[in-house]
Amino acid sequence: NLQILLASRPVGRPSPDNFEFVHTPIPSPGEGQVLLKIRYLSLDPYMRGRMSAAKSYAASVEIGQVMEGGTVAEVLESRHPDYAAGDRVLSYSGWQAHALSDGTDLRKLDPQQAPVTTALGVLGMPGFTAYAGLLTLGQPKPGETVVVAAASGPVGAAVGQIARIKAARAVGIAGGPDKCALVRDAFGFDVALDHRSPTFAEELQAACPDGIDVYFENVGGKVWDAVFPLLNTFARIPVCGLVAQYNSTGPFDGPDRLPILMRDVLTKSLTIRGFIQREFHAQRPAFYREMAQWIAEGRVKYQEDIVDGLESAPEAFIGMLEGRNFGKLIVQVS
Ligand code: NDP
Repeated sequence: NLQILLASRPVGRPSPDNFEFVHTPIPSPGEGQVLLKIRYLSLDPYMRGRMSAAKSYAASVEIGQVMEGGTVAEVLESRHPDYAAGDRVLSYSGWQAHALSDGTDLRKLDPQQAPVTTALGVLGMPGFTAYAGLLTLGQPKPGETVVVAAASGPVGAAVGQIARIKAARAVGIAGGPDKCALVRDAFGFDVALDHRSPTFAEELQAACPDGIDVYFENVGGKVWDAVFPLLNTFARIPVCGLVAQYNSTGPFDGPDRLPILMRDVLTKSLTIRGFIQREFHAQRPAFYREMAQWIAEGRVKYQEDIVDGLESAPEAFIGMLEGRNFGKLIVQVS
């Protein structure tokens, strides 16, 4: 059983030697357990936080433990009353080829209904993050301007497309011309801007002539710097992620602008609200229903970037934090 363990904690950018490959015997299920063969592993930005010892909303992965992660698996052997060999399930089995489960982390998938990989992206945790965060906290109204970065990724892509369904204008920010073309032409955003352009801040201002009503914060850094002065009175800022700073080590660059931020929070009545998607779990049934329907109607499109082989996971993960993925990053394990 190939497993990828956390070998050491990264300082700054993770490197391949933070991961260790081990081969262990395939485990046997006990009473009430299933043996899973992992088909697909999801790679997500939050895993950078799990590699760190810093206190966060979830416990760190310990050194020598299997890296955590969402997976799509096939039941190979079942000693659990609710599962049979051959069932396809969503599980949280981590970076390994086989795993045991007592069923508590499993959800059955119907491959006839949707490709099983979508359970890791548009119809899974990232899609749900976009849905709950945008609708509950962002509350886009018809005609308003919604801005989101990492717009070619699974969270950002869904944010922009749901904003459009709610009759708002969607401005997407992504790295490079290919991602911008995807965001505009496939996902149907009104505008797509490249955050690497030297005139990015001016382009964003021109793309938001009526200011910004909802900024769905995925990245922080230079994108936030460009967004901040354009926020309208009563703007909502769901703070979902800050991927631009996940690999940073020391104090952040630039002057401390907290007093200016607080002034604008007051004078523009801004709502800046962080969230972790789990707090909205009660909305999951509504999400599955609505998102599946939007996909069926062609109103929500998705892009998956599937890399081959569990051995590729560390490099693919490191690359994702720097924007080398093209859509929802998934490892085909077997
Ligand atoms: P993506 O697949 O979009 O991958 C991350 C992307 O971030 C990269 O592809 C890159 O895209 C972009 N990026 C990296 N560095 C920078 C930078 N310096 N400036 C601008 N963009 C950058 O990821 P997801 O869709 O899975 O996740 C998006 C965000 O949502 C992340 O911050 C993640 O942590 C957060 N999240 C939060 C959850 C919650 O519960 N709060 C749950 C799930 C995700 P590009 O090439 O376009 O720059």
